[in-house]
Amino acid sequence: MAEKTTEFVCQSCGAVYRKWQGKCDACNEWNSLIEEETSASSLPKSISGGSKGRKIDFVSLDGISETKPRTKTGISELDRVCGGGLVAGSVMLVGGDPGIGKSTLLLQATGTIAMQKGRRCIYISGEEAIDQVRMRAIKIGFKRS
Ligand SMILES: [Zn+2]
Repeated sequence: MAEKTTEFVCQSCGAVYRKWQGKCDACNEWNSLIEEETSASSLPKSISGGSKGRKIDFVSLDGISETKPRTKTGISELDRVCGGGLVAGSVMLVGGDPGIGKSTLLLQATGTIAMQKGRRCIYISGEEAIDQVRMRAIKIGFKRS
């Protein structure tokens, strides 16, 4: 037998909450949450947003994923953690303590990719001055002093 649970559904936008609250965080409507019973064992095919909300379909993990072509950075460890290289159009966040070498690693990868035939790279830094980037490029060997 299916286990019954309750959830609180916003009657204005369809947002679903586990606990009651006075204000819907999704649409900022006050006192719009109504307690509804759900069956915990039967997974819904989609979450319907009522009359105003947006319907979101669940997607199964079955199926085949297409493999995207990867660009090698020439830095074997970086390529390895990126699953074989960088994917065009993807975004990667590189984090770490200050001074650990994030900027040097990324400038080195940018320079290596830029040296590959038919490739162009742009190194954008929101933190470092152009002189810092230039000095680092010279130190790495990508720019003549
Ligand atoms: Zn709402």
